[in-house]
Amino acid sequence: MTDAQLLTNQILIGSDFLDRGSAGTDQHWNPATATVNGEITLGGRPEIDAAVAAAKAALPVWEALGPIERRDRLSRLAAIIESWGEDFRALSAAETGMPQQGFIWRLKLSVEWIRQYVGYADKVGGDLTGSSDDGQLEYVRYEPYGVVGIIITWNSPLLSLAMKVPAALAAGNTVVIKPSELTPYTPLLFGRACLEAGIPPGVVNVVPGGADAGEQVVIHPDVEKISFTGGAVTAAKMMQAGAPFIKPFCMELGGKSAYIVFPDADLKMAATLAAKELSNAGQSCKFGSRIFVHDDVRADYMAAFTEACRSVVVGDPEDMATNMGPLITRGAQDRVLGMIEQAQSGNYGRLALGGGKPKLDGALSQGYFVEPTIFEDVDPLSPLAQDEIFGPVYSVIGFTDEATAIAQINNTKFGLSGYVHTRDLRRALRVVAQVKSGTVYVNDANRRHPWSPFGGFKQSGFGDEGGRAGLDEFLRKKTVGIA
Ligand code: NAD
Repeated sequence: MTDAQLLTNQILIGSDFLDRGSAGTDQHWNPATATVNGEITLGGRPEIDAAVAAAKAALPVWEALGPIERRDRLSRLAAIIESWGEDFRALSAAETGMPQQGFIWRLKLSVEWIRQYVGYADKVGGDLTGSSDDGQLEYVRYEPYGVVGIIITWNSPLLSLAMKVPAALAAGNTVVIKPSELTPYTPLLFGRACLEAGIPPGVVNVVPGGADAGEQVVIHPDVEKISFTGGAVTAAKMMQAGAPFIKPFCMELGGKSAYIVFPDADLKMAATLAAKELSNAGQSCKFGSRIFVHDDVRADYMAAFTEACRSVVVGDPEDMATNMGPLITRGAQDRVLGMIEQAQSGNYGRLALGGGKPKLDGALSQGYFVEPTIFEDVDPLSPLAQDEIFGPVYSVIGFTDEATAIAQINNTKFGLSGYVHTRDLRRALRVVAQVKSGTVYVNDANRRHPWSPFGGFKQSGFGDEGGRAGLDEFLRKKTVGIA
C-alpha cells in the first residue's frame, strides 16, 4: 500500500469501513518530525453500539465454523500479517516513531503469538471431573464469553493486538477493539488482515476513539469481558465503571521493573541488555528503569552502562542504524523532561548521562526526542525511583546487602518484571523466589515467548497473556452434572 493509503484512518464495523465517526476528527502527528500524518476520525457511543451489535451477530457465525476452520483462518491471519510486515513497519514508524530495529523483532513476536493461538484453536478441550460406576458424570465445558472488549494503549499496538485478539478468537469469542487515538492506523490494518484471512465480518471490529469510547465498551451490557493494556489509573476508572455490571477484566498495566546486578555478574552483558531496552525509548511496560548494582562493582558497571547508553543511536525511525526513536507526543516529551528537571531540583539522584533533548538535524529537529538519561545514587523512595516515567530514564541504586536490595526492589506499587544478573545459580534461584513480579529473567532481558504467561503482580495488573493461561482468560467454565 502507499503511505497515503496506509495513513487513512477509518472505523471498521462488520465489513463496513466508515470515513466518519460521531466523536469528530483529530490531527495525527508523526512523533519523529512533529508533522501531521493526517486527519483521523474518532468513534463514540453510536459506533461502539454498532460494533458490539455486529460482534454479537457474528458470534453464531464464528461458532458454526468450528475449531478446525477457526484454526485455519487464524493461521491465514498469521501469514498475512507476516507478509504485510513492511506495511506494519512503515505504519509503526509513522504513528509511534518506533525504529526498524525495535519493530522487526516485535513483528516476529506478534506473528509467533498469533501462531501460538492457531495451535490452541482446535485444543480448547474440556475436563472430566467426576464419573462413578453407577453412571453419574460430571464434566466441565469451556465456553467463550461472547463479545469481548479489547482496549489497548499506543506503545506497541500490533503486539498488544497479537497478544489478545487471536487468543480471544481461538476461544470462540468475537471482539470490539478500541485502540488509542494515538495509534489508530495499525489496528485498522490488523482489522483488514482479519477480513483478508477469511475471518467473517463482525468477528473483529475496530473503533478508534478516546476515553469516552473506551468507557462505552466497558459499560455496554453485551460486552461480557474486557481485556485491557494501559495505565493503572485508567484501569481503576474502568473497574469503577464496570462495577455495576460485575464486569470481568484482564488488566495488563505498567511497571517500575528492576535489575539486580551482583558482583559475579557479566557486567558488560548486564549493561548491554539494560541499554537495549531503549528500543521503544523507555515506553515499554517491562522497561527495567531501576538498576540495583552491588557497590563492589558499581564503578565498573557504570562505566559499561554509560558507554552502552552513549552508543545508542537516537534518530530517524526509518534508518536501520537507529536504536531509539522519539517519544509518542510533545506532551510525553514535556512530561519526561519535567520529571528529569524535578529529579535534579529535588536531589533525587545525580545526573550521570543525558537529561535533555538530543540535537538532531533537519526534519527530526522538532521531533519528540529525549536523550538516554541515567541518574546515579538515586533515593529508592523518591518519585524518580517510584513512578513509572515511560521514557528513557534509568535510576541506578547501589547496594551491599542482598536482603535490603530485594526489599527495596519490592517496595513499589508495581510488579511486572525483574532482572537478576549473577553467575551463582543458588543465589539466582533464591532471589527469583523473593522478587514480587509476574516475570523474572536471569542473565537475560528481552526473552518473551508466546508460550509462557505474561502478566503483573500488584498494580501491574492481573490476568495473563500467553500460553494456555492466555486462552483461559477468554473462556468460562460450565460444570455439567448428569445423574
Ligand atoms: P491509558 O491507560 O491512558 O489508555 C489506554 C487505553 O485506554 C486507550 O485506548 C484509552 O483511550 C483508553 N481509556 C482511557 N480512559 C479510559 C476510560 N476511562 N475508560 C475506558 N477506556 C479508557 O494509556 P497510557 O497510560 O498512556 O498507557 C501506557 C501504560 O500502559 C503504561 O503504564 C504502560 O506500562 C502500560 N502498558 C502495559 C503493558 C503490559 O502488557 N503490562 C503493555 C504496554 C503498556
